[in-house]
Amino acid sequence: MRRKIVAGNWKMNNDLSETEALLNDLIAHVPETDVNVMVAPTFVNLFQAFNMLKGHNIEVIAQNMHQEAKGAYTGEISANMLKSVGVHTVILGHSERRAYFGETDELLAKKVDAALANDLQIVFCFGEELEDRKSENHFNVVESQLKNALFHLAVADWKNIILAYEPVWAIGTGETASPKQAQEMHAFIRKTISEKFGSDTATELSILYGGSVKPANATEIFAKEDVDGGLIGGAALKAADFTAIINAF
Ligand code: PEP
Repeated sequence: MRRKIVAGNWKMNNDLSETEALLNDLIAHVPETDVNVMVAPTFVNLFQAFNMLKGHNIEVIAQNMHQEAKGAYTGEISANMLKSVGVHTVILGHSERRAYFGETDELLAKKVDAALANDLQIVFCFGEELEDRKSENHFNVVESQLKNALFHLAVADWKNIILAYEPVWAIGTGETASPKQAQEMHAFIRKTISEKFGSDTATELSILYGGSVKPANATEIFAKEDVDGGLIGGAALKAADFTAIINAF
C-alpha cells in the first residue's frame, strides 16, 4: 500500500519564534492519522524543529541541499549536515529552485544521487510552466524532467523517492489544477515510471500534487485515484488550514 503524505513547504517564512509557535500549534492540532505529515522549515530552524517534534507524528524535512559532501561552497548545506540534525527527507527540484537559482535537471540528478547515497528520502518536485500547458506540451515536459533527473536510478532507489507534481502555473497563484487535470497527469506519471521501472515500483510510489491546495479544494483532489497527497505551500503556514488539509483525507 502506498503512503498518503501531506507535506508543508514553509519556504523562506518564519523566524525562530514563529517556527516554534507554528510547531506548537501543529502539535496541538494535527490528529493521530495514517497520513504521513511532514513540515519543511528553513535550514536554521531545522534542529529546533527536530527537537520539538520528537515523539510526535510530524516529520521535519529540509527544503533543499547541496550535491557535494563538503568543502568550499559558501552558504550551502550537505546531506550529512541535514542528517546530523535529525533530518531524513529532503525536497529537491522545487520550481522556485529551478527558476530563481538555476537548478537544472542535470544538477538535480546529482543532488538526487547525493541524497540517496546518504540514505535520505527525497520529495522530488517537477511540473510544467503555463506556456507548456497552453501549447499542450505538458506531458512531454514532465516526462523529460523525470527522465533527465531520475531515469538513471535503480529500481531499489525508488523506495526512497516521493514525487510531487507541481504545475508551475498553480504554485502560489491561487489557481489550482482541476482534480481531473491532476488525475490525468498523475496517471501519466505512474505509467511513465511503470514502463521504465516496473509496475511494482509505480504502484508503491506516492505521487503528491502541489499548487494552491487549500482546505476548500483538498478533498476533491485527494479523492483522485493516483493522487497520494499534497505538497502545500501557503496553506501550510496556518496550523488550522494545514490540519484541515490533512483531515481532507
Ligand atoms: C509549493 O510551493 O510547493 C506550493 C505548492 O505552494 P502553494 O501551495 O502556495 O501553491
